[in-house]
Amino acid sequence: MKITRRNFVKAGVITSGGILTSQFSSSKLFGRFSADSPGPIVISTWDFGINANSKTFDLLQKNVNSLDSIEAGINVIENDPGINTVGYGGLPDEDGIVTLDASIMDWKGNAGSVAAIEGIKNPISVAKLVMQKTKHVMLVGDGAKKFALANGFKEENLLTEDSRKAWLEWKKEFPHGAYRVDSKNHDTIGLLAIDKSNNMSGGVSTSGLAFKIHGRVGDSPIIGAAMFVDNEVGGAVATGNGEFVMKTLGSFLIVEKMREGLSPQKACEFAIQRIYKNSRNEKDIQIGYLALNKNGERGAFSLYDGFNFSLTTQNKNVVLKSNFLIK
Ligand code: ASP
Repeated sequence: MKITRRNFVKAGVITSGGILTSQFSSSKLFGRFSADSPGPIVISTWDFGINANSKTFDLLQKNVNSLDSIEAGINVIENDPGINTVGYGGLPDEDGIVTLDASIMDWKGNAGSVAAIEGIKNPISVAKLVMQKTKHVMLVGDGAKKFALANGFKEENLLTEDSRKAWLEWKKEFPHGAYRVDSKNHDTIGLLAIDKSNNMSGGVSTSGLAFKIHGRVGDSPIIGAAMFVDNEVGGAVATGNGEFVMKTLGSFLIVEKMREGLSPQKACEFAIQRIYKNSRNEKDIQIGYLALNKNGERGAFSLYDGFNFSLTTQNKNVVLKSNFLIK
């Protein structure tokens, strides 16, 4: 069953969980799993992440490493035309062009990313290849596409009929291309996973803000902004108005706060407070953070109500609602 953010369906064992509170004890970092966090664990942004979690968790169970498992999980969302904020079917920029951002990081501290790539359905896989095949971290635009094509990726039209219609409607409303920030027209799949060898990887993929200025790049391909992993500590991912995440390097901040001893929950709250401090006059923005430490403890926090996330472990496959700052 396809589950999208706007069409949230309770399915199987998925429940819309209670509000997360700061129930997570201060973590014993740098250790192995505690007894109550057995084996693989996957956490991802939004309710649509549950489909990515299922794929990722299946692979982790088969002993596939966290890097390959999260790539396959994120591919599920990128390939889904019903999710209009990621990959195929993503909403285009103001010129009607779908441009995608993604990044990936493994447990050895390797990272790869692509920014503003066009015509390639699976930017997370291109990011992984940048990481594995080059000495660079980030490729952008035409260069990223050329690299993808040279490595066997196919060029495809990513603009679905639904997304084209949404763009035409937007153009009618804003004939001069007035840029509009709207908390409803953007999301990111951000996913963190720990495998059976206790190794963590993370990845994010998005079409960014709908109807953005052509050439705009968000937080997703910036290592440390929308995603960061340090296998000694844990990882974090972000969704929301990327400009605010970039200006505070939110995911890096969260991991560093966990390194100092904060729980994942407290670290997410700290990073949201940091954004709030600099954005009090901003209207209609939303930021959501997820964090996972090496004990399998997680945190989630957002600026406003409405952020949820998907969690999959041996015993759970649930969508949970995040707590938020501005009540
Ligand atoms: N962070 C993404 C961006 O700014 C969008 C989102 O996750 O809502 O590109």
